[in-house]
Amino acid sequence: MTPRLRLQPEAIGLGMTSQRVRDRLIERLRGNGIADERVLNAIRTVPRHLFVDEALATRAYEDTALPIGHGQTISQPWVVAKMTETLLAGLPPRPPSGSIAAPARVLEIGTGSGYQAAILAALGLEVHTVERIGELLRVARKRFRALGLNVRSKHDDGRIGWSGNGPFDGILVTAAAPALVEALTEQLAPGGVLVAPVGGGGGQVLVRLRKGADGAIERTELAPVVFVPLLSGLID
Ligand code: SAH
Repeated sequence: MTPRLRLQPEAIGLGMTSQRVRDRLIERLRGNGIADERVLNAIRTVPRHLFVDEALATRAYEDTALPIGHGQTISQPWVVAKMTETLLAGLPPRPPSGSIAAPARVLEIGTGSGYQAAILAALGLEVHTVERIGELLRVARKRFRALGLNVRSKHDDGRIGWSGNGPFDGILVTAAAPALVEALTEQLAPGGVLVAPVGGGGGQVLVRLRKGADGAIERTELAPVVFVPLLSGLID
């Protein structure tokens, strides 16, 4: 007997997580100024719906932040795209392709759902990520494993960085602090780039910090943003 054909919404292309829905998000990001095709491709490829609760999966390809529990959020895709694009553009130049070169080493503070780290890993970067809420980190690690992504992670207060694994060519901070965290700028390699939301109740701005080969710091403000706060202390 032939099995009855069950038409899953996914199979007929009407699913809220279908390629068509994802492509719409890519066009929206493009319209809002994201131009780096590598970033757009990573966002097209990494299944954001697997980084949120099943109940929210149908909203995963809207350009909006979504709750991930513990009072935290997965960042808005445009913000992920903007931070990733800024990071890639600021990374020190790599040796010519064909040579045996280590990938750029990047550090993310605030693993959350794991989505931003997954985007960085999909881009071929060597990703290190730190999260203070143990339960979020456990779930994110399962996602990395399920997707075959190689991400190094640790349960810690990211305000101290990850000195044993540094210095880093790039650092992304995905939670806002009133000022740039000194331990993190110290773990940035010469020629490296750090992208972080800075500010408190009065509003936050996305800041790019470049460290010259001579150690000189150049700071640029990119766009107003809204992030959850960078907090101290660990939670199981
Ligand atoms: N990059 C995440 C966004 C998560 S929201 C994603 O793609 O889903 C910010 C995250 O930063 C939260 O999970 C929060 O718990 C974490 N966080 C806040 N303060 C932190 C700190 N001091 N050290 C590490 N993580 C921190």
